[in-house]
Amino acid sequence: MKKVAFIGWRGMVGSVLMDRMREEKDFTGFEPVFFTTSQLGQNGPDVGFGPAPLCDAFDTEKLSRMDIIVTCQGSDHTKEVHPKLRSMGWKGYWIDAASALRMNEDSIIVLDPVNRDVIDRGLASGVKDYIGGNCTVSLMLMAIGGLFREGLVEWLTSMTYQAASGAGAKNMRELVEQMNIIAKGAGPLLENPSSAILDLDRNVSETIRGGAFPAANFGAPLAGSLIPWIDSLMPETGQTREEWKGYSETNKILGNAAPVPIDGICVRVGAMRCHSQGFTIKLKKDLHIDEVTAIIARSSKWTKIIGNTKEETLKGLSPAAVSGTLTVPVGRIRKMNIGPGYVAAFTSGDQLLWGAAEPIRRMLKIVLDHLG
Ligand code: NAP
Repeated sequence: MKKVAFIGWRGMVGSVLMDRMREEKDFTGFEPVFFTTSQLGQNGPDVGFGPAPLCDAFDTEKLSRMDIIVTCQGSDHTKEVHPKLRSMGWKGYWIDAASALRMNEDSIIVLDPVNRDVIDRGLASGVKDYIGGNCTVSLMLMAIGGLFREGLVEWLTSMTYQAASGAGAKNMRELVEQMNIIAKGAGPLLENPSSAILDLDRNVSETIRGGAFPAANFGAPLAGSLIPWIDSLMPETGQTREEWKGYSETNKILGNAAPVPIDGICVRVGAMRCHSQGFTIKLKKDLHIDEVTAIIARSSKWTKIIGNTKEETLKGLSPAAVSGTLTVPVGRIRKMNIGPGYVAAFTSGDQLLWGAAEPIRRMLKIVLDHLG
């Protein structure tokens, strides 16, 4: 029976992965072995075989006995352990949520509903490193990948509205703490319906700007505000690394010989775990909007078209509507008035599912099937 190591299974992405695997009854046909960087000797999760003591996630000798390693531990661990294993001659499959190996020439970024052909070619040619993509990129391709598949995109901009979860568990807590402090400060004014709205506004602004407002993780207020900066500066282009990934990862996922230009501005907003994006898409052909919509609808079986009405948009096209689900709604699809071939669209999707854990879960199944 194949041995599969799980590292990083109790972090935010790892827990969503465990939940999804339990839900889909995936823990069959292989022997799971759980590792830790900090809880050595404690018991791992019970996935149907009783709890077993955790193994050391830095024990390369033990890891080298695994057929597959699935890790959601993060780039630091990957950078330390992966090269050691490979230099020891380990030939197993490495499936990783972290970005460390994403742009390596001998790795494939996995999003099988979109690039199963690239994955299958990789498996056939002996590629052993399969890495989950950036959450925003994966969600964009789940939403409108059909347009890329048909070779219709001349260029595209994605303006993002990204959730707190993308920055980690501590940041999700900080967002809710910020909301709580705003609500507490404004409480007496809120309870009095005849209080002046400008007093309420002033109260909220003073709370947000006050020295006691908790913003150690984000570095700035998010609740009642937004942060138009995600990750580090790419000095040559002035993009943030998150913005740079839009171009580099999308074209790598699609295996494009001629890269499609993609850029935009990535913004953190006060959503919990769903990233949203507004697209301007320049098509190579000025297709009828119904045809464009039909092609978008074929992007994946989880893509759901939301009619361009206020009613449908409010009901189905928001973080509140899709959080915790695999559905990727796409709406506000319309021709833009700036010229022929310009289309607008908007999407929202759960970044811990399609943006992180789900492509990893599905890749494990694909590798297990491949190994027979
Ligand atoms: P995380 O929640 O910080 O978890 C990482 C590790 O922290 C855990 O595996 C755990 O390792 C340790 N840890 C320490 N204290 C913990 C606690 N109280 N609860 C749970 N775990 C604790 O990291 P993550 O957000 O899942 O991200 C993991 C990797 O996936 C990163 O490389 C990230 O860039 C990538 N990724 C993240 C997202 C996202 O949206 N967050 C999306 C795509 C990719 P031990 O059990 O060994 O102590």
